[in-house]
Amino acid sequence: MEDIIQVLPDRVANQIAAGEVVQRPASIVKELLENSIDADASQIQLIIQDAGRTLVQVVDNGKGMSATDARLSFERHATSKIRNAEELFHIQTKGFRGEALASIAAVAHVDLKTKRAADELGTAITIAGSEVTSQEPTSTTNGTSLSVKNLFYNIPARRNFLKGDKVELKHIIDEFERVALAHPAIGFTFHHNNQELFRLRPDGLRKRVVDIFGPKFNEKLVPVEEDTDVVSIQGFVGKPDFAKKSRGEQFFFVNNRFIKNNYLHHAVQIAFEGLLAEGYHPSYFLFLQIDPARIDVNIHPTKTEIKFDDDRTIYAILRSAVKKSLGQYSIAPSLDFERETSFDDIPLKPNGPVKPPSIEVDPSFNPFQSSPKKEHKNQFDWTEAYHQFDTPSQSSNKEIEFEGAHSTTIAYQLHNKYILTHIKTGFMVIDQNRAHQRILYEQFLKRLENQSSLSQQLLFEQTLEMTAGNRAILTSLESQLSSLGFDIEPFGPQTVVIRGIPAGLKETNASAVLERIIEDAKHNRDDLTSGNLDTLAKFMARNMAVKSGIRLEKEEMHQIVDELFACDQPSAAPNGKTALITLTLEELDKRFQ
Ligand code: ADP
Ligand code: MG
Repeated sequence: MEDIIQVLPDRVANQIAAGEVVQRPASIVKELLENSIDADASQIQLIIQDAGRTLVQVVDNGKGMSATDARLSFERHATSKIRNAEELFHIQTKGFRGEALASIAAVAHVDLKTKRAADELGTAITIAGSEVTSQEPTSTTNGTSLSVKNLFYNIPARRNFLKGDKVELKHIIDEFERVALAHPAIGFTFHHNNQELFRLRPDGLRKRVVDIFGPKFNEKLVPVEEDTDVVSIQGFVGKPDFAKKSRGEQFFFVNNRFIKNNYLHHAVQIAFEGLLAEGYHPSYFLFLQIDPARIDVNIHPTKTEIKFDDDRTIYAILRSAVKKSLGQYSIAPSLDFERETSFDDIPLKPNGPVKPPSIEVDPSFNPFQSSPKKEHKNQFDWTEAYHQFDTPSQSSNKEIEFEGAHSTTIAYQLHNKYILTHIKTGFMVIDQNRAHQRILYEQFLKRLENQSSLSQQLLFEQTLEMTAGNRAILTSLESQLSSLGFDIEPFGPQTVVIRGIPAGLKETNASAVLERIIEDAKHNRDDLTSGNLDTLAKFMARNMAVKSGIRLEKEEMHQIVDELFACDQPSAAPNGKTALITLTLEELDKRFQ
């Protein structure tokens, strides 16, 4: 019998290894940015085309490589960062396995240009599918530029596996933000399809957070600081009144490496106990420094999980550090006019014990039209409105017959989420957010179809500061937004002026809604740019609708009930989810038998 075992050629081995290291363009972004940081760069440019499909380029001003090192850097297990296994326990660099460049070069076209400050000439290397196609001296600036083109050009199956541009770009932005947050002293720029998304100047962590997530964050951040033998903790948590329904900005870094850890997350969550309404999540940007020897280093470099020797202690220290910071913040709240007013009712005794205030927080807002409606709300006869639903012509096209509500209408809000109201045959429970989405969706769709976007000019223009990245997104959506009734103009690189907003939107909520739109557009850009009116109307409805967790005034509840039943399809939100349920007296009676 013949022997059958073969050693795989390097090219094949590299392709297999690439499967682990290079999952998507964002993995390349992470590896290249980390290499630049390991090379002590102080300025790093990230340039992306087509969400990384055609180009991921990182240019740094780091220490560069010699001609030999440049060639070697693409060999598997070629690293300048460790020499033996012992050094693994003291590792300070991001990389150490020497696999990234070899893997990347196996599945893409790679151009490297690099030069050390001491050298006259630099080196240019081109590689495709692990084959060096050229290597020559070149004149170039100090540092390294690495371009990765046509990712997975030689593995169609992997290429087809990539998601749409907006998803891949989202992953890239996530990786970029993590690296940029971990290194506020390094300057970064990030361009996508020639559009500048980020320009981050070297500064402290607070400024970095603000530059990435927007100027509003400045007033949201509460510093956390704790220094113990086991761990030292630094960073910020978001004030409770800015908490969000979505788990957004939550970042842990251990020794400046982004990690995910549910156990530590829980510690922070617990520290916020009593300060957050149910379903709300705090933001945090927390940096833990731990002796590398106390961390399980045998972790996969591309994974973000991590194990500590002493996780219970770290948990306890983290929880108490966050609690302490929140307590201090509650003694001296910053001046903030949007703050929940009940905060002001907490008696502040100068020498009394500090207790975190237990309040229900509405971090969002109530986007109801108030100004135009309020003026005549007193004349508005709700009974009359309800009776309208009795007439067959009004209700014939409804999925649900709204059979003449009780003449003295009762609307009761349950857990700031549901509206309870009487109907003749029993009662009805309405999901305030979904119902409002339905109302807005139908209104927007009609306006868009008739091309009659109703814009209301603001009495006082509002200026809105935002990151350059967000500004760029906003600019790219200009025509869509104006078709919806927004009248917005650029004003300096990080500011826009809002002159007009869609009719029905409360003036005081204009900027908040716009910020939401930008956030949503980052993840669902196609919804806005597809040109599909239905999708656009849905997009607007979900960003403008009153959220769960918001307390409604009686009039607002009535308005929802009223407008909901003027809708063509009152029973479901635009996404098809149930907006209301009814319970008849018969059913109730049965339950009480
Ligand atoms: P690792 O980072 O695990 O060492 P990589 O494959 O990412 O492995 O990189 C291989 C080597 O190439 C690094 O150890 C480093 O010496 C060199 N290198 C990579 N990128 C850069 C860069 N931007 N500047 C200087 N040297 C670099
Ligand atoms: Mg590396």
